[in-house]
Amino acid sequence: MRLFTKGKAFAGILLAKVKVNYTKKSVRIFNYYFLLLAICCLGATYLFNRHPASFELGVDQSITITALLLTVLLFFQLVRVNKGKKAAERKLQITQVRFDKVYNAGIVGLLFTRLDGVVIQANDCFLSMIGYSADELAKGLVSWKTLTPEKFQSASAHAVEQLKTLGYCEPFEKEYLRKDGTTVSVILASSLLDSNDSADAVTFIIDISHKQQARVREDELNQYILKQKEELQRLLMNAPAMISLRRGPELRLEFSNQASRDYSGNKDHLGLTPKEIAAKFNINTGTGMLEKVYRTGESFTAKAFNLKFDRTGNGQMEEAWFDFVLEPLMDEQGRIDGVASFGFDVTDMVKANMELKESENRFRFLADSLAHKIWTCGPDGKANYYNKGWYDYLNAGTFEELHTAIWASIHPDDLQAAQSLWAKAVVTGDDLELEQRFKNAKGEYQWHLTRCCAHKNTAGEIVLWVGSCTNIQDQKVVQETADLLSRKKDEFLGIASHELKTPITSMKASLQILDNLPDEDFKPAKVKSFVGMANRQVKKLNAIVDELLDVTRIESGKMALNYTTYSLSDSVRDCAEEIRSYAKDKYIILTTSPDIMVIADKVRLEQVIVNLLTNAAKYSPAGGTISIELENRGGVVRLTVIDNGIGIPPSRQRMIFEKFSRAHEASQKYSGLGLGLYISSQIVRQHGGDIGVYSEAGNGAKFWFELPLYPDSPN
Ligand code: ADP
Repeated sequence: MRLFTKGKAFAGILLAKVKVNYTKKSVRIFNYYFLLLAICCLGATYLFNRHPASFELGVDQSITITALLLTVLLFFQLVRVNKGKKAAERKLQITQVRFDKVYNAGIVGLLFTRLDGVVIQANDCFLSMIGYSADELAKGLVSWKTLTPEKFQSASAHAVEQLKTLGYCEPFEKEYLRKDGTTVSVILASSLLDSNDSADAVTFIIDISHKQQARVREDELNQYILKQKEELQRLLMNAPAMISLRRGPELRLEFSNQASRDYSGNKDHLGLTPKEIAAKFNINTGTGMLEKVYRTGESFTAKAFNLKFDRTGNGQMEEAWFDFVLEPLMDEQGRIDGVASFGFDVTDMVKANMELKESENRFRFLADSLAHKIWTCGPDGKANYYNKGWYDYLNAGTFEELHTAIWASIHPDDLQAAQSLWAKAVVTGDDLELEQRFKNAKGEYQWHLTRCCAHKNTAGEIVLWVGSCTNIQDQKVVQETADLLSRKKDEFLGIASHELKTPITSMKASLQILDNLPDEDFKPAKVKSFVGMANRQVKKLNAIVDELLDVTRIESGKMALNYTTYSLSDSVRDCAEEIRSYAKDKYIILTTSPDIMVIADKVRLEQVIVNLLTNAAKYSPAGGTISIELENRGGVVRLTVIDNGIGIPPSRQRMIFEKFSRAHEASQKYSGLGLGLYISSQIVRQHGGDIGVYSEAGNGAKFWFELPLYPDSPN
C-alpha cells in the first residue's frame, strides 16, 4: 500500500511539474517591473512640473536620464528574465529525464487515457502486462474498458466518477484481460492531467498477480493447516488411548478424547484443574506428576500405575492399573504451556498377569508335591525350572548346582543317547521318551522313565518344554525278572517242545503202524478204537508242539520264509476243503477272484488261513456259516473270514494277537493255547502285510489280513 501511496504522491509531483508554466510567470514579473518603472516616470514628471525650480536639469536631460534609467532597468530585467528561463528549462529537463526513467523503468505500468476508454499512450511495462504490442496500441486496439472483465466494470466506473469529481481516484485492485484470454491482477491509481479538463488521465498500474498467487497459496495453506488440525483432532478424539491436554499454570483440562470420556461415564471435565478432577474421582494420589512435568519440561512414563478411584461417580471405588505418558506442551515461543497425557487401561492385563502368577505358584506347588521329578525348559531347550523332587534326589542347593548335577548323574551308558535324543527333540519339537539311569545322592543308579513334551502355541511354535522323570527302578527290577523268567520259559518251551517232538513223532509212527495192521494180526475192535483215539490225541499234541516250536522260532528270529509265486485263490480253495472235511456241521461259502497270484511262503500262509478257518469253526455254533472272501484290491490282496459265532468283546480284540492270549473266560471249553493268532500275525507282518478283526460280542467275528501282491524284498 505504501508503494501505491508513494506512486500517488509521485504522480502528484509529476503533474505539478508538468503544469508549471514558467513563461507566464516570467512575463508577470516583467510586467510588475514595468508598472513600477512607469509609476516612477510619472512621479518624476509630476515633481518636475510642480517644482521646476528645484530641478536644475532641463527637460531633455530629465528625459535622457529617465530613458537611461529605463534602459538600465530593462537590461537588468532582461538578464533576470533570461536567467529565470534557463533555470526553468533546466528544471524541466531534469523532470523530463526523471519522468522518462519512471516511464521506461518497467516497474510501473503507465498509461495516458481518455475517460471513455481510449488509451493514448502506454509504456512497455503495461503493454507486457496485458500482452499487446506498441503497434497494436498505435492501431487503437487497446482500450482499458474492453480490457476490463465484466466483474470489474463497476469498480472501474466508480474510479472514473472519482476522477471526474476529485481529479484523481483512490488506488484499487482489478484485473485486466490479457490478449491471450488470461487475466492479470493489478492495482491502479489515476489522476486527471488537467484538473479543469476531465478528458485525459494518467494511470499508474502495478502487476500484483504474484501477490495474488501468494495470497491464494496462503489461503490454500491455511485451508490445509485447518484440515490437518481437524484430522489430528479427530484422530486424537477417536484414538483408543485416553488422551487429555491441560494448559496454563493451573493445568486446566482443555481437551479430553472420547476414550477418556467413555471411561469416566461420558464426563469431559473440561476447564477443571487436576486437583478438581481428582476430587471428582475421589482420588487420593497427588497431582505432583503433572506439576513436575509442567515445571521441568521432562516427560514422565508410568507402567501399571495402580489407582483406586470412583470411576463413574456412583460412590463405588474401583481398582485399576494404567500405563501412561505425560508430555510437556509448548506454546508458539517454545515455552512450556501445558501437559499432555496418553493413558491405557491395562487392568485386564495386570489381572491376567496376577492370575498367571497365581497359577504358576499353583503349578510349582503341584509339581513340588509330586514324587516325580519335573522340569521345564524354554524353546531353546535351556532348563528354567526344576521341582523339589530333583533337589531332593540329588541333594542340590541352587538351581545351577542342580542343573550341573543332573547331567553328571546320568549313567555313562545312557548319557550319549540322552544327549542326542534331547538335541534332536529341541530341533524337531517332537516329544521324547526314554529310559535312563540317574545316580542319586547316595551314589546308587536308579532307572527313570523320562518324558519331554513340547507345549506349542497356535502358530505351532514351541513355547515351553515340560519334562518329567518317573522312578521306575522297582518296575524295572520286576520287568527284568519277568523278562528273565520269560526267557527261561521260552528256553524251556524250546527245549521241551524239541524234546517232546521226537517221542511224539515216534509214537505217531507206531500208532500209524498199529492202525494199519490187518485185523487178522491181533486187532480187536476195542483196540482199534483206542488206537484211533490215541492217534487223534497225538495229532493234537503234535499241533501244540508245532505251535510252541513256531513261537520259539519267532522269538529267536529264526522263522525264515520261503517265497514262491503261486495261486493264492487255489491255496485258499484247498484250505476251505480241508476245513470242510472235519467241520462238517458248518456251512462254508468261498468267494474268490479267479486267479490271484502272489509271491509268498505258501506253507506259512496256509497255516494262517487254516488257523483263521479253524477258529471260525471252533468259536461258532453247529450249523453256523463261515464265509471266505478273497479279493484283489489293486496291489494288495485281502482275505476275510466271517463267522456268526460267539464274537470277541472290543476290549479284548487287540490282545488276542499277543502270545498266550485268549479272549473268553469260557475258552476252557474250547481247546487251544492262545498262540494261533500270535503266530499268524507274525507270519503276515513278516510278509509286509497286516492283520485285524472286526467283531461284537455274540455277533460273530470278521478276521482279515492283507498282503502286498509284490512284496518289497522277499527273502
Ligand atoms: P486259540 O488256540 O485259543 O484259539 P488263537 O490265538 O487262535 O488261540 O485265538 C486267540 C483267542 O481269540 C481265542 O482263544 C479266542 O478267545 C479268540 N478267537 C479267535 N478266533 C475267534 C473267533 N472266530 N470267534 C471268537 N473268538 C475267537
